[in-house]
Formats: sequence, structure tokens, C-alpha cells
Amino acid sequence: MTSPTEPTPPTRLPLLPTHAVPPSTLGTMKHDGSRIKMQPADVKGKWMTRRRVVFALLIAFYVVMPLVEIGGKPAIQLDAAARRFYLFGATFNAQDFWMVLLLVLSFAFGLLALTAWRGRVWCGWACPQTVFLEGVYRPIERFFEGSREQRLKLDAAPWSARKLGLRAAKYAVFLFVSLNIAQAAAAIFVGPRELLAMILDGPRAHPEAFLLVMGFTAVLMFNFTWFREQFCVVLCPYGRLQSVLHDKDSITVSYFEKRGEPRGKVSKAPAAAPKGDCVDCNRCVVVCPTGIDIRNGMQMECLACLQCVDACDDVMHKLKRPPELIGFASHHELIGKGRTVLRPRLAVYSALMLLSLGTLGFSLATRTPFESNVIRTKGSNPFVMTAEVVRNPFEIHLVNKNPEPSRFHLSIEAPVPIEVVLGTPDVELASLADARVPAMVSIKRELVKGPLELTIVITDSHSGVVKRQPLAFLSPMSVGR
Ligand code: SF4
Ligand code: SF4
Repeated sequence: MTSPTEPTPPTRLPLLPTHAVPPSTLGTMKHDGSRIKMQPADVKGKWMTRRRVVFALLIAFYVVMPLVEIGGKPAIQLDAAARRFYLFGATFNAQDFWMVLLLVLSFAFGLLALTAWRGRVWCGWACPQTVFLEGVYRPIERFFEGSREQRLKLDAAPWSARKLGLRAAKYAVFLFVSLNIAQAAAAIFVGPRELLAMILDGPRAHPEAFLLVMGFTAVLMFNFTWFREQFCVVLCPYGRLQSVLHDKDSITVSYFEKRGEPRGKVSKAPAAAPKGDCVDCNRCVVVCPTGIDIRNGMQMECLACLQCVDACDDVMHKLKRPPELIGFASHHELIGKGRTVLRPRLAVYSALMLLSLGTLGFSLATRTPFESNVIRTKGSNPFVMTAEVVRNPFEIHLVNKNPEPSRFHLSIEAPVPIEVVLGTPDVELASLADARVPAMVSIKRELVKGPLELTIVITDSHSGVVKRQPLAFLSPMSVGR
């Protein structure tokens, strides 16, 4: 609460179009439906410092990972043409695609749990849209055009050589950055070596890839230079789902109304009516990238970026008042009902995430470096009987899932003497290549008195893994039983 001895609060920024944001109106929209161009003010504080660290790590992850190799293989590549993908040095083929689905499911359930617990923190801290906008494009804009006040002035100023020069320099750097992000994205599909070869060959040698990169660059330019926060507010499907993902115990960025209201300027008049801690300076509104006034309550457009928290803490610090007039709270906390973290919605989302992650972890841990299947030969009888022997023809199908070429040795064992004819006992296979090896096993009739089981033994020279695969030996004696 205010006291007559308090320092003068920060004055409202002079160039600020202090669009008071009515609770039912988008902060980025005027009453006639046209868009308000967001020029969020710079803010410093503990959350901004932490966000910058997170942004730096994520930019390195998003841009650098597709461009590097681990163990001679792309760190991340989705090679759709060859139906294979690489993840952190491991090689996967089309049969492993269900693992990608498990990964996507784990991520989706994790995101649902995080949203039910803490609101849109993914949006404000880790989504590539925010990471690149706030971590790359906005700082470039500030470098060329200055603070919010200077940018607003420049926006309003008539065209001049200075304005043209600043805008040209800014967009040239934006274009350079967008082109590089687009190329990093292209590397996800073609791999870093192929991308480098394509760049060196020039656009004429790879017109489709060139057009694709140019198209994506154009999309990035449109998004990060003009569309910006509209992506989070009106386009992103995850953003649109917020109202069903939240409940009254979700901990979101909140204004502590009981402490802040009645808001008003600090008055030194002795008879002034007592006021809340909010001095109505509007700093929390002008730093908001989606233009909302968090004092109007929780809103779907809030990205949980915490810029308003840092801005208000700064104001409170100058006024020598406690911080966190804006902080984290659930609806139930705000109305005095206390915090409930564990609740059915959160438990179900978390359990589904852990189940998907556990299944994925188990599948990866038990994944063999090759696949093998025994297939009865198409178009021929599963067994042939002569006066002396019973024969079983079949094929052994091998897929090398090692990241390197490997040699596979094949042999067949049985509990009785057998005669084996193999297409080849040793198969050389490149990474992710496959082969079918024809095989024929003959057993003397008098030895086949009932069901018999063969064992196909496959030894992988690259990994040293030995797989023993059972196969029923078919005969009239086994079929009849
Ligand atoms: S909540 Fe804080 S930053 Fe926002 S207007 Fe009030 S005092 Fe200023
Ligand atoms: S209200 Fe605060 S936390 Fe939400 S988007 Fe605006 S600045 Fe970020």
C-alpha cells in the first residue's frame, strides 16, 4: 500500500499508445478489427536473463543439430526417399517408424501435462516461434532501430534516407538469418553433407531444393518480420486449445488484484484515499509481446513469457515495495482456496507421458542391430516329401540396422542330423540394406517322427550380436498332429 513518503513512480512512457485493453478485446486488435503493431518495450530482470540462456541453448539445438554428424551419421535426418531416419547417431528404418510415433506421443502428453500444470510455458520459453522471434529477430530489430520509443518514432516518421537505410539494413540481416534457418531446416531432410554439396553445386544443379529453401525463407520472412505474435494468438492450434487444457488449479501468470487494487498514481496529498500497490504505470502492458493487460485476468494470449513480471518487479523495486505483484498463481489461489497440484487431469496426462516414454525406452534398449524374418517360399509347398527325405524350402530375410556395413553369418541347427543348402552362408550388407537368402533343409524320413524345430542362427559381425530364431520344420507328421 502507498504511503506519503514513497518515491515518485516511473512515469508513463510518452510515446506509448496506451491502448487500455478491455478484457474482451484482443490486445493486438483495434475496435475496427485492424491490427495494432506490437512494439514491446525492452525489459530486464531475472526471468529475462534465464530466458536468454534457454534461448541460446535452444537456438543451438534447433539450428546446429541438423548440421552436425554424430559417429559419421547425421545427428538428425529424416530421409523420406530412402525411408530411414537418424537420431543422435542411431539409424532407424521404416519398420522403426512406430518409435517416432511413441516419441511424438510422449512429447504431446508431456506438453498437455505441462500446460495443465503451468499454462503456456512452452510458448514463452521453448517454442521455435518465440525462441527465434525474441532471441534473434527482435534483438536485430532493436540493434538497428533502437528502443520501443525510437521504433515507434521511426514507424510514424515519413520516409527519409535514414529510415530507408535502417529498414534496408534490418531486412537484409533478417533475410540472411532466414536463409540460414531455412537451410538448417533443409538439412533435416537431406543431411548436412548433401546440403553442403547442393550449395557448392549451385541452384541450377538442384532447382527443387533451391525453390524449397527459397519458399521456406519467404515463409520465415513473412512470419518473423510481419505476422509475429499473430501466429501465437490466432493461428497456433495449441494456443487455441488453452481453454480446455487449463483448469482452475493451473498455475499461470497472474496479477494479484487484492494487493494491487485500487490502482492509481502515488499521491503525496495527506488526505489521498488509500491505494493498492499498482501505480497504473502500464509497464506490464507495454512489455507484453501479445499486447495484453494481465490485470484483466488470465487470458488465452498470455504466453507465460514473464516479461510483465520482470517489468512490474522493476517498478516495485523502484517504489521500495515487495516484488511479485504479478507472479504465478492459480485461479483457486487468487480466490483464497489454496494450491492443488495433484489432480486427475494432471495425473492422467503425466501417466500417459510416462507410459509412452517407458515403452519407447524399453523398445530402444531391446532394439537389435538387425532384423531377421524367416519366410516360407512363395509359390511352393511348405514341405516336399520324397522316398528318402522331407524338405522345407524357405527364405531368410535380413535388414542391417547398424550405422555401418556388416557381415552376417547364417547357420541352421536341429535336434537331428540335417542337410542344409543355403544361398550363401555369409551376407555383406550396407547400413539399412536388406537381402533374402534362400534356404533348404532336408531330413531323412525315418528321423521325422513328429514336430521338429529348427534354429536359424544369425551372427552379426559388426555388433557381435547372435540371434537364434526358431522355425517349425513342416512335415505330414507335424501337420497331422
Ligand atoms: S501491475 Fe505493475 S507494471 Fe503493471 S501497471 Fe501496475 S504497477 Fe505498473
Ligand atoms: S501477460 Fe505477461 S507473461 Fe503473459 S504474454 Fe504478456 S508479458 Fe508475457
